[in-house]
Amino acid sequence: MTNAPSALDIARKLVQCPSVTPEEGGALAYLDTLLSPVGFQVHRPVFSESGTPDVENLFAKLSHGKGPHLVFAGHTDVVPTGDEGLWTLPPFSGEVKEGMLYGRGTADMKGGIAAFSAAVLQYLAEHGEPEGSISFLITGDEEGPATNGTVKLLQWAADKGEHFSDAIVGEPTNPDAMGDAIKIGRRGSLSGTITVTGHQGHVAYPHLAHNPVTIMAQIVSKISAAVLDHGTDHFQPTNLEFISIDVGNEAWNLIPKKATARFNVRHNDLWDAQKLSDFVMKNAKDCIPSSDFDVTLGLIPSNADAFLTRSDTLIQSFSESVKKITGRTPEHSTDGGTSDARFIKNYCPVIEFGLVGKTMHMIDEHIAVDDLKTLTDIYYDFLMRYFPPKG
Ligand SMILES: [Zn+2]
Repeated sequence: MTNAPSALDIARKLVQCPSVTPEEGGALAYLDTLLSPVGFQVHRPVFSESGTPDVENLFAKLSHGKGPHLVFAGHTDVVPTGDEGLWTLPPFSGEVKEGMLYGRGTADMKGGIAAFSAAVLQYLAEHGEPEGSISFLITGDEEGPATNGTVKLLQWAADKGEHFSDAIVGEPTNPDAMGDAIKIGRRGSLSGTITVTGHQGHVAYPHLAHNPVTIMAQIVSKISAAVLDHGTDHFQPTNLEFISIDVGNEAWNLIPKKATARFNVRHNDLWDAQKLSDFVMKNAKDCIPSSDFDVTLGLIPSNADAFLTRSDTLIQSFSESVKKITGRTPEHSTDGGTSDARFIKNYCPVIEFGLVGKTMHMIDEHIAVDDLKTLTDIYYDFLMRYFPPKG
């Protein structure tokens, strides 16, 4: 036994910091008091951008010798509580009831941060500094615009000459129980608008007009029926959903000039923005009967590419730790929404593993205290594999 704080102690203190984006709420200051005394160099850069609130972030590094550089990444900001009166226990009290720790951010993702902090502190207390570097990359801007957070923090660290070997994001990845799934990539997300322009006219004289509504209906049917792919070993099939068709015509006797349709694609790594754009335009143009119609496509710039972690060593080694502690073989998953891993993957291999995500963003968000212990044990076991103690 050591006198390093437990994950539960740390999680409770973090939950008690009201760090609703973009407020720091004392959460990063608390991590600073945890990490500085054990030798971490702690930086808390504040990033700004016009039109968005300033956000404080934290980068802490412990470096010793020439070994690999492992990064634990996460965010201390949380989504708003909603109506606090609807919570069984106050959302920032960090109270435990019947084996559950309640509070905003327990699952997403102060519990994850508490678990990897406790695991690192335990490792240091028992084995001293490892041969290599351990860093914490913690943002306060994941749930908000994500402008003054991980993207800038990664660039800031790169500018200081930091090179990362591997990263673990502690976001909740398990749908139902610890050991369900490690995220080894993410689908990409892309949104766009198709516009068909025809010729406006009187409904009684359709031969003098060119109706874009009819053409748009065909485009939407054709693209919706198309199979983009059948999925891959690691990804579900790509799916394009039309979410709105808009003409905005109030009149009953008017053929409109223009029709638009908006869509979102959740895609695997067989696709990128260019390929998707080509696919949509080819299908749309196939529906255009003559030069009396014009079709254009506008894509919303996206930083959510699909990606797959290429490091088998990282994935296998972490899977072994999950298996050893939970007795279960985790699925290697790529589903769900996006996370900051989409930015980290540009710097080093990254996987995501954290708590059970069932209650994240909900009223009465909570986690099992046992799960917090399990997660800490998994991170600790992984640290022992990654940095085998000397002697
Ligand atoms: Zn999160």
